[in-house]
This record gives sequence, structure tokens and C-alpha cells, in this order.
Amino acid sequence: MIKVCKFGGTSMADGINMRRVADIVSGDPARRYIVVSAPGKRFGGDAKITDLLYETHQNLTENGELGAPFEKVASRFRRIVDELHLDFDIDAVLSETAEEILQTRSESFTASRGEYLAGRVMAALLSAPFVDAKDVVKFDRGGRFDPASYELIRSALKGTKRAVIAGFYGSDPDGTVRTFSRGGSDISGAVVARAAMADVYENWTDVSGFLACDPHIVASPEGIKQLSYRELRELSYMGANVLHSESIFPVREADIPIHILNTFRPDDEGTMILPTEKYLAGVRRLRTVTGIAGKKNFTVINIEKSMMNAEIGFTYKIMEVLFRHNISFEHLPSGIDTMSLVIDSEELSHGVLEEVRADIVEAVSPDRTSVYSDVALIAVVGHGMTKSVGTSARLFSAIANAGVNVRMIDQGSSELNIIVGVDNENYERTVRAVYDEFFRET
Ligand code: ASP
Repeated sequence: MIKVCKFGGTSMADGINMRRVADIVSGDPARRYIVVSAPGKRFGGDAKITDLLYETHQNLTENGELGAPFEKVASRFRRIVDELHLDFDIDAVLSETAEEILQTRSESFTASRGEYLAGRVMAALLSAPFVDAKDVVKFDRGGRFDPASYELIRSALKGTKRAVIAGFYGSDPDGTVRTFSRGGSDISGAVVARAAMADVYENWTDVSGFLACDPHIVASPEGIKQLSYRELRELSYMGANVLHSESIFPVREADIPIHILNTFRPDDEGTMILPTEKYLAGVRRLRTVTGIAGKKNFTVINIEKSMMNAEIGFTYKIMEVLFRHNISFEHLPSGIDTMSLVIDSEELSHGVLEEVRADIVEAVSPDRTSVYSDVALIAVVGHGMTKSVGTSARLFSAIANAGVNVRMIDQGSSELNIIVGVDNENYERTVRAVYDEFFRET
């Protein structure tokens, strides 16, 4: 059994937390490869090391020195080593790092040093070798992740019982350090899990996994114990943001399950994210609904034209208008003589809405167009919805009983989700009604 464990910024925030991480790792011999983030915030208002490093770089460009931001980085790491009573020459590593930043003057290199330093300290704490991601995580000439990295990682890990790898960065073909996008240590963890052909990718964070809905709306909602990759995609797309579904493509491709766990409550069950087939085959009793997520501030443009279905190229002409304005749409529910475009309101601000509407009128001469804004979308997600008769009846009666008018419905062809559009002001009320209907069942 091989587990690859990624620890996020809060788990690495100070010496006490790093000690917890070391205990978690040592508690299970299968936890072999450890991927770390840079220390995050210790309390509200605290600074993340990565942010301080971006400030360091800015200071370097503007004033020619590393200055106060780097001093803060250095003292955080000195303190961590102190708290851990570690025999590790952090001062030497810090001055070497400062030297390299001054030499390279590269933003990515500077930003990556949080993970580098955290990795060095964690390796010392676990008495395990440190693998520099610069040598094994590679990007191609276009800046895309290079799958040749898997082999490099495999050979670097070969023969090690345990190893620590810094998250968030890798290097270009010429060896220059490059970072993934912000939050990218999740990708590094997934890459290492795939390379090591791990049985599971443990993603340790500061919450006990996914909840069935936003806890700001429903007090202490149920935790989701199991989730399929496809459900994860639907839920995180609609705003459930424990883990970015796109960031875990390497494990998804290799069908490796992801276990979301809480460093601060390591005995909690967490959420297990499984390849869809495995999930469906193994689940004991499929819940009707797995989770509910949603977002506010969408605009719906309704287009009506009798016999639109018979008009060849009708949709094409509308899509062409959107393409010209560089606008992506979220949903496209349509009827015989009507079509609605659901678009993030942000994309239509500063007069774009009026232009798009006028261009649509010119392109397809509709009988009528209407627009309503301030729409919230709620995604009700679950494989179980296909299997149980009457799900939509229950869903819509619950919403009606809450006194909410439904502005739009879209059921994805996968039957994995039903999207409901309501006025922004009814968003919370609707989520609560749907949660009560499907989660307070016996
Ligand atoms: N430290 C990086 C960031 O703050 C990467 C990560 O934590 O995943 O974005």
C-alpha cells in the first residue's frame, strides 16, 4: 500500500502544526511520499508565506532589495525550526536562498521558495530525503506540465522508504523554476501520486472534507463521505471549493482515489473521492442527492421565435455572437420556440449585455427577447437521482413550499445534476429547502 500525502498551508503554518503533520505521517507506514505547501496563515489577518514572497519579488524589482517582506519570511522559518527544536541550520539555507533570489530575480523562483524551505524543514523533521521538485516536475516549452515528469519522479523516489517533495513548482526544459497556478500544490500532490502509482492520494487540509452544502447557509450540514469524480466536478464547478476539480487531473486519469482529510481532526472520516465506476459499484446505499452547491449573479437572456427549431443555423448564429464578444455561457436550456442563455453577469457588465442583445436581434430576428438578471443557480448533484423515481417532483415541491418561484431549470444530459435558477434573494432559502427535503430524510 502506498499513500501520497499532500499537506496544505494551514497544516504547515507553524512548528506545532508541522509536528502534527509529522505525527500523522509517522502513524502509518504507507504514508511514504509527502508533498508540502508553504506555511499559510496561523490566524485571521496573518500573512501567507507565498504572498510575502511575491511581495519580496516586487520589492526587489522596485527597490533593488529583498527588504522587510523577506525578513518576515526568514523569521517565520527561524521560529518554526525553533518550535520544532530541530537541529537544522536554517540560517545557512535562508542566506543561500536570499542569494539565489538576488541572482535569478525571477518571480516564480522567489514564490517557490516557501515550498522549498517548508520541504527542507519537513524532510529534516521526518529524517527523510528531500526531493527538489525542480529536478523532477517538468514543464514543456509551452509551459504545460510535461508527463515525462512521472518517470523522473519514479526514479528519484526509487529505494526511498519515505521522501518529502516540495509542492507548487517544477522547472522548464532549461531548468528555470516555474510555478503552477496559485493553490498548485494540489496538482503537485496529484502528480506525485500518479508517478508513485499510489493506492490513494491523501489531501490533508483544515476541514474534514466536503459538506453536503454551504455551512454558512445550513448550520452543520452532513459531511459527504463518498463522492465520485464526476460529482466532484459538478460540485466544485458550482462553488464547493475544498479542492479544485481541475487540479487533480493526474490522479483522475489514473483512477486513483483522493481522500480529503483534516490535519486538525485526523480521526474524522473525511471525504473519499472515487473513480465513478468504482464509486457506483461499491456504494452500499446510493443517496438520492450527494450534495448541493450554487452561485449567485447570473443573467438569463431569453430568445423567442416561433418555429426556431426548423431554422437551420439558428443556434449557430447565436453562438457566433457570443464567440465574437468572447463570452462563455453556463447553460443553454431550450424549448420548441424558446432558448435561454445563462451567463455569468460579470461577463455582461459595462454595456456588453446591451450590445450582445442587439447583435442577437440582428442575427436571428427573434419575435421577442427578454432579460433578467440577479439569478442564482443551484446545482443539486447525485448519481442517485437517476435511480430514484420522483426526485424532481420532490425537488420542485420543496422549492414551491418554500414560496420560491423557479426562473429556470436545466437537467444535464448526464442526469447527474439538476440546475435550478431562482432570484438571488431566494438563493439561501432555496438551498435550505432542498437540503431539508433530501438530507433530513430518514
Ligand atoms: N503556496 C502556494 C499558494 O499559496 C501553493 C499552495 O499552497 O498550494 O498558492
